[in-house]
Amino acid sequence: MKKKYLYTDWMADFHCVGAECPKTCCGKWNIAIKKEEIDKYKELAQRHPFGEKILEALDEERGCMKQCHGRCALLTEEGWCKIVLECGEEHLSGTCTTFPRMIQEFGDVLECTVEIACPIVAEYLFDNKRIGFCLDEIDDGTEEKPQQIDLELYDALSLARSFLIDLFQEYDASCSAGKVYILFSAVQAVRDMHGKGELSRQGMQDWLSQWDERGIAAVMGGVEPIMKREELKAVQILRLGELLISSHALEYILSDLEDSTLKEDVIRWIGGIDDFKDKLREFCHWRDEHYALALENYFVYALFREWIPHRMNMARFGKTFFIRIVMWCIIQLCALPVWERQGEVTVKEYALLVMGIERALSHSEPILDELVRVLEDENSIAKILLYLI
Ligand code: SF4
Repeated sequence: MKKKYLYTDWMADFHCVGAECPKTCCGKWNIAIKKEEIDKYKELAQRHPFGEKILEALDEERGCMKQCHGRCALLTEEGWCKIVLECGEEHLSGTCTTFPRMIQEFGDVLECTVEIACPIVAEYLFDNKRIGFCLDEIDDGTEEKPQQIDLELYDALSLARSFLIDLFQEYDASCSAGKVYILFSAVQAVRDMHGKGELSRQGMQDWLSQWDERGIAAVMGGVEPIMKREELKAVQILRLGELLISSHALEYILSDLEDSTLKEDVIRWIGGIDDFKDKLREFCHWRDEHYALALENYFVYALFREWIPHRMNMARFGKTFFIRIVMWCIIQLCALPVWERQGEVTVKEYALLVMGIERALSHSEPILDELVRVLEDENSIAKILLYLI
């Protein structure tokens, strides 16, 4: 069966660095193992001397690998996987084989990327290179028919996503707030059209027609002054910090960043708002000089990964983009004290921050809901934009 593979150049470039990894994915996370994989390991144990060790390391009831000192029980001190060493790579579970690759199937289109929950992938955000996209048609040699999807819906959402990705990648890089404003407008337009049963390719094309060069320039001109209100921005960002501390969401979000002092920093910054405002301005200036495309890449990555919801479940549509603003803000607030201490934040340091926050959130639906609740009173676009640092 011929299938179309739409993938990022990150996917083509990525290689796991194994034992060299600064934060292996085999640590802390519970690695999910499916029932049929457990059965295969049981069968392996009948004929391979290491099979029994694998069974001992499995938590059959919870469907995952057991942990030992916060790492997968089958990870060596040096960071190698014992299943690979003893039995061969072909015996790895689906989760271990796939991560950080992510494939979403929409009919005969397979959308493939790698996730920034891996620190090596997160480094790509800071490469100062735009994310590239490739499309190949490959016969997978099977007769398996693609799953049925609502093609009209996929088409309309793809059209909007292509426009937004082009906007983030091609328009003047200094206009990030305007781009995010248009992204939020698109979320709202899709929700409205979908709610009225009018989300179609034609409907989307009609909505997009307003965004010619003049339309975009008008938004950029209108939104950028909001971003220049530095005093207000500083107050708003610290208010978000306070809200997160009091909701306890921050504790969870920072759980993968052992050295984070963010809670103490927020309290310190609240004590001297003018000082915070100046530091924020200097830091953002430094960051934009060194990592000019980081924010664009972050949102292009999110658009490709999340704009079309998993299984096209429209009840989830758009939710993550509000959260992405908060996550971006927290990443910057964690990077700021590093920059204060050493005058720079290296790509590796930034990547570990991104990875830590992504890992905490990617497996916690309750925390995502908590963040949406925290933002409920804040969800006017102007206020949300003030978190954009
Ligand atoms: S986090 Fe990424 S680089 Fe590190 S071990 Fe996992 S896949 Fe490999």
